[in-house]
Amino acid sequence: MTANIYPASSPETQISHLFAIIGQPVRIQILAIIGNEPACVCHLEAVLGLRQASISQHLMVLRKANLVTAQREGRNIFYRLVQPGVLAVIEQAAVFAGMTPGALSALALRPVAGCPCPQCNPGIDPELSCNTLSSSKSS
Ligand SMILES: [Zn+2]
Repeated sequence: MTANIYPASSPETQISHLFAIIGQPVRIQILAIIGNEPACVCHLEAVLGLRQASISQHLMVLRKANLVTAQREGRNIFYRLVQPGVLAVIEQAAVFAGMTPGALSALALRPVAGCPCPQCNPGIDPELSCNTLSSSKSS
């Protein structure tokens, strides 16, 4: 599965477009958070401290580019990488920028204090899941 967004464009244009999609700090954070383990929107909210509407917009862009996919598990929708190799690209970019490959690895740590998601709260009451706590309209 490839993200062929502009089929008529030259390879360098398509690659440039993909870097532009990845190249926003919030999107790099999202990709790092879900890099090794899927996460739901309320977990992303807790880690990033952003409103769900803002996170959903970024997720939509990443999904259109076929970098991220959504999967329903029980009452929640979890976002995961379509191509896990994108995490290696980010880690390599961290090295190019003079950091260690794991510069963002703290973002992927769970549990997150104050996060209501099922991953951070094993054995949570199903009625208190992500969808209940944040009015999720994502599909
Ligand atoms: Zn969580």
